Amino acid sequence: MKIAVRMDDITPDMDWKAFYRVKEILDRAGIKPLLGIVPDNRDPNLHKCDNRQDFWEVMRSLQAEGWCMALHGMHHNYTSEKGGLFPLNNLSEYVGLPYAAQCEMIRRGKDILERNGIHTTLFMAPAHSYDRNTLKALVMNGFTGVTDGFGDMPYQYKNLTFYPISFRMEKTLQKKNGYSTMVLHANTMTEKDFEVLENRLSDRKLYTNCEFISYQDYLQVPARRQTWVNRSLEWSMATTKRLLVKLKGILKK
Ligand SMILES: [Zn+2]
Repeated sequence: MKIAVRMDDITPDMDWKAFYRVKEILDRAGIKPLLGIVPDNRDPNLHKCDNRQDFWEVMRSLQAEGWCMALHGMHHNYTSEKGGLFPLNNLSEYVGLPYAAQCEMIRRGKDILERNGIHTTLFMAPAHSYDRNTLKALVMNGFTGVTDGFGDMPYQYKNLTFYPISFRMEKTLQKKNGYSTMVLHANTMTEKDFEVLENRLSDRKLYTNCEFISYQDYLQVPARRQTWVNRSLEWSMATTKRLLVKLKGILKK
């Protein structure tokens, strides 16, 4: 299996120490990930330090190095308790809002990135939640791809290419064929998580079937057409995963 990496929740006030720790591990492995940038962060959960003044400069230089960029919402504030078409979480910044409102949020978000020299046609939905209007608004604003969904190949749906993420990483790492994405949230990574990441990228004996690739290479993989059956399967998997995570939380209490 070929696995690309995405890093969520990239903001001027993120945990920079953790960010650079991940970067160091990825650099050592020669992997360039996809960064999900929040254009105007207002989510207090993502606030880990004072705003770094050279944020956009850092982003531009990573972009120049070949790192990929995605628009990760507008404010990263959840305005509804709906999961939409990919209900991994019952939270969303977009789901349920009228088309015109979503179109405007996406346009403004993209505009902030562009004014700061960040060019992208990829979208990363906060909490993985989007609905039909989000997809329509993305196409309207010139977006071509979404980092989400389940499956082992990029697929086309509603005039967008979806680049699937992993359902269960340890299982994905053992699979022989296909493509997937490992999702990283540096802000909340523990010592153990850094150790696991390091092992996944370097222990070629344990993970003989998988190869990590740069996100640019994932974008080159031809997409198949999404079938109605796969779309339903994906919805059921997202719902199951959400319920399992909830159950785990209840059992932990
Ligand atoms: Zn996020």
